[in-house]
Amino acid sequence: MNPKFHLASSNLNFYPRSQVIHEGVEYGLAQTDNEPRLAVLADSNNPALAAFTGETSPLQNRTLCLCPLNAHNAAALRAQLPWLQPRPLGLATSAGLGDRLGLATPGHVRAVRAVGGGIAPIFAQQSMREMARTGRNPQLVMDNATWGTFQEGWQDGVGADADHLKVPADIDICLAAGFTFFTIDPGEHVDNRAETADLNLLRELAEKLPAEVGPGASGLLGKDFVIEGLSIHFDEATLLKAAVKYGKAVAHVAMMYRHLEQAAGPRPFELEVSVDETEQPTSHSEHAYIASELKRLGVRWVSLAPRYIGRFEKGVDYIGTVAAFESDLAGHAEIARHFGPYKLSLHSGSDKFSIYPAAMRQTRGLVHLKTAGTSYLEALRTIAAVNVDLFREIYIFARQRYETDKLSYHVSAKLERAPQPEVVSDWPGLLEQFDAREILHVTFGSVLTEKTTDQKWRFYDRFMDLLRANPEAYANNLEKHFIRHLQPFLLAE
Ligand SMILES: [Zn+2]
Repeated sequence: MNPKFHLASSNLNFYPRSQVIHEGVEYGLAQTDNEPRLAVLADSNNPALAAFTGETSPLQNRTLCLCPLNAHNAAALRAQLPWLQPRPLGLATSAGLGDRLGLATPGHVRAVRAVGGGIAPIFAQQSMREMARTGRNPQLVMDNATWGTFQEGWQDGVGADADHLKVPADIDICLAAGFTFFTIDPGEHVDNRAETADLNLLRELAEKLPAEVGPGASGLLGKDFVIEGLSIHFDEATLLKAAVKYGKAVAHVAMMYRHLEQAAGPRPFELEVSVDETEQPTSHSEHAYIASELKRLGVRWVSLAPRYIGRFEKGVDYIGTVAAFESDLAGHAEIARHFGPYKLSLHSGSDKFSIYPAAMRQTRGLVHLKTAGTSYLEALRTIAAVNVDLFREIYIFARQRYETDKLSYHVSAKLERAPQPEVVSDWPGLLEQFDAREILHVTFGSVLTEKTTDQKWRFYDRFMDLLRANPEAYANNLEKHFIRHLQPFLLAE
């Protein structure tokens, strides 16, 4: 304990890593009777005190303010402690550890710290879709991550990913909440007819493209790119297929980028482009087309998520041949080095243990790993260990929801292959069964928002109370799980 830390004499029960002195003001996160609160101690006339709202009392000739963990105080804390403010991460090897519950950041911080801090972390990250599913909003996602980062004393910097943004209004709300990493998803503007269209149809569809990406605008016709081991030739069919498939998406990204640039003003931000949720893989020539066109239209981006070959299903390992993935990825990485450099992003990146080494090798560290739902599964693992009855209830409900909830995800689990609840004896072990794992993964929104006939939460309160009552167990599960995710992304010494 720091002898100069006067808060220590307050008899408050502090999270040890949260205690910090900055510009003469002491801060700490304290566990009070029924909730954690922020403690701020300073001379009474210190302007930093006025930034916070809470109960004040005298302590050793100073003023102690005990503050509830609300949005106002989270913003004030970010303003006072600059390392809590999200910032662009640039080309550093990075990982986004999304949290759908608002309780996972402490475990995430511990995992990043455990591997030596060589990976730039994003703790605030949620897509608009997942927020809608759980009744959360960008400010809440940001603030939950702030409190967790503060609790664990992480001062080495954080990014914040506003994930899968589709319209300009998404940008505005996330910018206001303090996000700095904007993932633009133009997936709805990808035209899959290009995959099967003949040259005549391609010509016809190309005529209908927006003018700024219309035929001829790219200047790519007849061009050759020889990039390291890769050679790409844009004959008419190759170019038209790429333009028809991705032209509208490119125009959409450019529109979103201009909106972001204007809305952000002087505030720094970085952009990711993600087309990972499309039907068909992104070919190398299509990737080159996207990058060349985005550059031509003045877009600057730090990472890009093509749709890779094979299957990236939620919460399970890569499905496909790892060697084939690696050689496909090698081409994407060459393109990213040539047109950027920018990072390749691995969406649905959780639990893809078999491909992490290849991803690191081929990108040479220019890679961003994105995970989210796997932290929810670790919450379920925590629940399974302390309250099997609740976990069983959730599993039975998840099975009922699966056929509906799976529709907006890439999953191949089959209900009939997942163990019937009556025969399960090892409940935590259920999380290792492929089908059960996917079923539990994609039904999180229903589990967290289901209400009983008298309008009470069916699971949410019990779920969250249990995690709050067992924070160390949850953090330990997360730490263990994410060390496995992060270790393969450390640069070799
Ligand atoms: Zn994604």
